[in-house]
Amino acid sequence: MSRALDILRSRFGYEQFRFQQRQIVDTLIAGRDALVLMPTGGGKSVCYQIPSIQRTGVGIIISPLIALMQDQVDALGQNGVSAAYLNSTQTAEQQRQIKQRLRAGDIDLLYVAPERAVGEDFLQLLEGCRIALFAIDEAHCVSQWGHDFRPDYQQLSRLHERFPEIPRVALTATADRRTLREIEQQLQLQQAENFIHSFDRPNIFYRISQGDNSRQRLWHFIDENHPGDAGIVYCLSRKKVDETAAWLRQQGRVALPYHAGLDKDTRAENQRSFLQQEGVIIVATIAFGMGIDKPDVRFVAHLSLPKNIEAYYQETGRAGRDGDPANAWMAYGLQDIISLRQMMAQSDADEQYKRVLYHKMEAMLGLCEQTGCRRQTLLGYFGESMDKPCGNCDNCVEPPQTWDATEAARMALSCVYRTGQRFGVNYVIDVLMGHARERILQNGHDRLSTFGIGNLDTNEWRSLFRQLIALGYLDSDIDNYGALKMTPSARPLLQGEQQLKLRKFHKAIKPAKLAASKVKPQLRNADAALFEALRLHRTELAQQQGVPPYVILHDKTLYAICDLRPDSIDHLAAIPGIGERKLDLYGEDLIRIVAQYPRPAVTDARSAETV
Ligand code: ADP
Ligand code: ZN
Repeated sequence: MSRALDILRSRFGYEQFRFQQRQIVDTLIAGRDALVLMPTGGGKSVCYQIPSIQRTGVGIIISPLIALMQDQVDALGQNGVSAAYLNSTQTAEQQRQIKQRLRAGDIDLLYVAPERAVGEDFLQLLEGCRIALFAIDEAHCVSQWGHDFRPDYQQLSRLHERFPEIPRVALTATADRRTLREIEQQLQLQQAENFIHSFDRPNIFYRISQGDNSRQRLWHFIDENHPGDAGIVYCLSRKKVDETAAWLRQQGRVALPYHAGLDKDTRAENQRSFLQQEGVIIVATIAFGMGIDKPDVRFVAHLSLPKNIEAYYQETGRAGRDGDPANAWMAYGLQDIISLRQMMAQSDADEQYKRVLYHKMEAMLGLCEQTGCRRQTLLGYFGESMDKPCGNCDNCVEPPQTWDATEAARMALSCVYRTGQRFGVNYVIDVLMGHARERILQNGHDRLSTFGIGNLDTNEWRSLFRQLIALGYLDSDIDNYGALKMTPSARPLLQGEQQLKLRKFHKAIKPAKLAASKVKPQLRNADAALFEALRLHRTELAQQQGVPPYVILHDKTLYAICDLRPDSIDHLAAIPGIGERKLDLYGEDLIRIVAQYPRPAVTDARSAETV
């Protein structure tokens, strides 16, 4: 067995390398550079952790998020790996001690922020140490076009200039081809071997729906699929964040708000609860998320439309980092499209920039309204192709019904035209439905040929208008209370030269019956009791040590224990995620707990069959 595989098994408790981990580890151990694109949850950390342990000297890990360093160092400590970080949260004395251990060759991995890593003090400190490698995590922060740009990242080539013979690895989960080339250039990694893994997150089930009453539907979704799980709910405005969090609390969940309007302490406190307690829901604006490395977020829900596909993919990507099934759920309505368009139009950006934003938003809407596989569209957007539909998204599992909307669309467009392109959606729908409202009578619109012409109900009309706006046939004039205007592309449709097939609006949606990722393995009763006991034990350990529960043991490991019921240390050692150190620390207690919850033989399906 190779030394690297031995470390994977004994320290991390995993049987095999996955994806290209093996090749990446070998490249670094051989002293060569690597550039790694792997999706969130793919297992990037192991790629530099194992070579840092195996090679002589300390692995220097550049990480942009001070808040995450603690978690990573704790998790490594749990596996018996000597790791530390240096950052501004530490006292001078703490830093002095770490530097001393570093010089003594006592540390295998050291985490530092980029601004420190490029400072002369730190470079001099390194002169006095053996260095195993440099790992540059979140390497896309080097790109000044990206949304996570960190100027200090562009200085990181200094490390290479100063220590040219030390191998380097740059890692990211969010880079398109252009960003990858930028990373290569800025970090002088032209010689690095590239390891490009698919962007796909196969364990995430995507569902997007439109219509009203999204809060109620959100609750159905959470209650049905995630009664005790941690999740994130994204809303567009602070007000909606506060309201939604309060409402979820009324339903009996622990739900905490997070947005820029809350003071710093409250934000930090809520984030801490989310990380350290089980089953907390964070309701947030997009201010929340960067640097959330919690592996067991089981769902990400959007109560409004993200402004582009990049944002949607990054936000939903926070679900299921541990690779277990997770849900990305989204509900949006007409008002979202209008609000987003207003925000864009009102921004000070130049016209060209606005056009780009607009274009990206249209792509997002295209994803929402489409009737084919969501994953194919998502991956296609990032330049990756997928041969077959995925079978793990709403459209694959329940192909949406379509209807021939040509006639109805013509009525709608014609009504917009005849009312003078001066009114919003509600008004035009009232005319189409023949509601003799006072304003309509005053305007004489009850005498139009389109008055009362349609035979759709309000919801159907709303859906139709939503799609006409989404597909660009209609614009909603932001300076004029959302007045609808026809775009040039409406003409062929209005004149009957073009057909329109649209997604059918589900009338009586029963959210509880909708497919979603089955998140929990089905536990038999006896197993469920054991699982709870194990979870309780884990919580106690986490509290004693002041670390999040997932740093002690992952859910996946607890499920495997329930399934396999180990009755000896050897047996327990075979469970993924339990390395030698955890075996020493927790093994006996775990086996004792397992013994307290024997599985009644009669409920075993196999023995029932043989009777
Ligand atoms: P990333 O940084 O790419 O988002 P992580 O390094 O946090 O991902 O790994 C994600 C999860 O996968 C972690 O729980 C990690 O312990 C687990 N993992 C990593 N490598 C393996 C492996 N070879 N076998 C099983 N699980 C693994
Ligand atoms: Zn699909």
